[in-house]
Amino acid sequence: MSDVRLRFAPSPTGYVHIGSLRTALYDYLFANQKGGKYILRVEDTDRNRYVDDAIENMIEALVWAGVKHDEGPFIEDGKIVQKGEYGPYIQSERLDIYNKYIEELIEKGHAYYCFCSKERLDKVREEQKEQGLTPMYDRHCRNLDLEEAKKKIDAGEDYTIRLKVPDNKDINFEDVVKGEITINTSEVDDQVLIKTDGFPTYHFAVVVDDHLMEISHVVRGDEWLVSTPKQIILYNAFGWEIPKFIHLPTVLNKDKKKLSKRQGDVAVGDFKKKGYLPEALINYLALVGWSPEGNQEIFTPEELIKEFSFERVSKTGGVFDVDKLNWVNGQHIRKADQDRITKLAIPHLKEAGYITDEDINNRYEWIKTMVVAVQEKISYISEIVDHVDIFFKNEINPENDEAREMLKGEQVPALLAAFKEELQQINEVDEEFASGLFKVLKKKTGIKGKNLFMPVRIVLTGQLHGPDMGNIILVLGKENILERINYVENNLV
Ligand code: GLU
Repeated sequence: MSDVRLRFAPSPTGYVHIGSLRTALYDYLFANQKGGKYILRVEDTDRNRYVDDAIENMIEALVWAGVKHDEGPFIEDGKIVQKGEYGPYIQSERLDIYNKYIEELIEKGHAYYCFCSKERLDKVREEQKEQGLTPMYDRHCRNLDLEEAKKKIDAGEDYTIRLKVPDNKDINFEDVVKGEITINTSEVDDQVLIKTDGFPTYHFAVVVDDHLMEISHVVRGDEWLVSTPKQIILYNAFGWEIPKFIHLPTVLNKDKKKLSKRQGDVAVGDFKKKGYLPEALINYLALVGWSPEGNQEIFTPEELIKEFSFERVSKTGGVFDVDKLNWVNGQHIRKADQDRITKLAIPHLKEAGYITDEDINNRYEWIKTMVVAVQEKISYISEIVDHVDIFFKNEINPENDEAREMLKGEQVPALLAAFKEELQQINEVDEEFASGLFKVLKKKTGIKGKNLFMPVRIVLTGQLHGPDMGNIILVLGKENILERINYVENNLV
């Protein structure tokens, strides 16, 4: 097993949790760094948790995030298509395979049929609890004769198949992140491998699939660490080579608790909707639990592929800090292509009623100028609607007393008169006008510095600080600017 092959193996719950995306991301980064393969496998053997379209939604979220798999299910023309030589990659389509391997285990004496009813198992569990023992299967069916068992099955009795956990043996393995782990089999339950509905349990399917798909590194959340010895017992029972195990620290919220739906956005789709850039989300997520060697914080996906290593993943939980994510996202927005940001911003601006379909079709450049004017201000795209209101109301309302006082300055009337005069000489503002305006006004009026810039800004936006003046002028256009000047002259000077 020399090739590097990693898998992300989610159960289709209907969405991808941000913590799961990080697992997938680390798989992706490492596989790409090593020239290996990153596989998506759908673990849908728990039929009680079935959700419609869950696989499609999951693939869509992963592909959007740029964590693209090499093998597994893909969406093409709205349909699920599986690609790769190790398929099928959806566990519910692999039942024949699990049946074949469970037969092998039974024959080798490593698994057995169990006919205990739910009522019996509940009773045993209750009794153990009362005695202060850890609830475990009491191995009632473990020594049942195989012929006897087959007769019961032929007679239509319900059954499960359990693992025959060896007695009193130390199971030892080295986790790349957590270090050496040893557990004695006396603490391991004779777990169910095949359920009464004929479906495999997670533990059984995961081992069979990781082996058959030639997975070299099993990367997953550390909630699975306790399950690993059970899986190793299975590898041993089959006589299969054991992959490397890498258990990642849980993604925590700022209160150091597990990041859960109740505290806000946790689904990848939520971040997409708000207008986070996928490369920024990935940049930030990579840093939740992993630290690069230097101080660099902003990474392109290519840089992450180059820098990433499991050795620098921390043993304990990584904190998901939305403020930090916002900062990282803001950095990526500033670097991003202006047309890309404009296209992402358009649906938000439209939904908020700032622009119409007609604007979208006929005034794209104007929309773009507006977006570019505030590109520096936003942390995520949907936030744009909080910054563009200054472009839509010509009745200026100075934001505070300082701004109001500024308009009462002695030189303001002359400044505004000169500004109006300049506007009246042109058909429409353009870049030349916008960029040369202050020079012209200074020459014309002799006013300079703060007394020149601030009143103009306040007249146009009501604010003391804000986007670049040149952009504001271009977005507003001649008529709106004149209206604003007139409004201020008549009401505020
Ligand atoms: N299906 C498991 C999950 O939902 C996968 C755990 C593993 O990667 O082994 O997280």
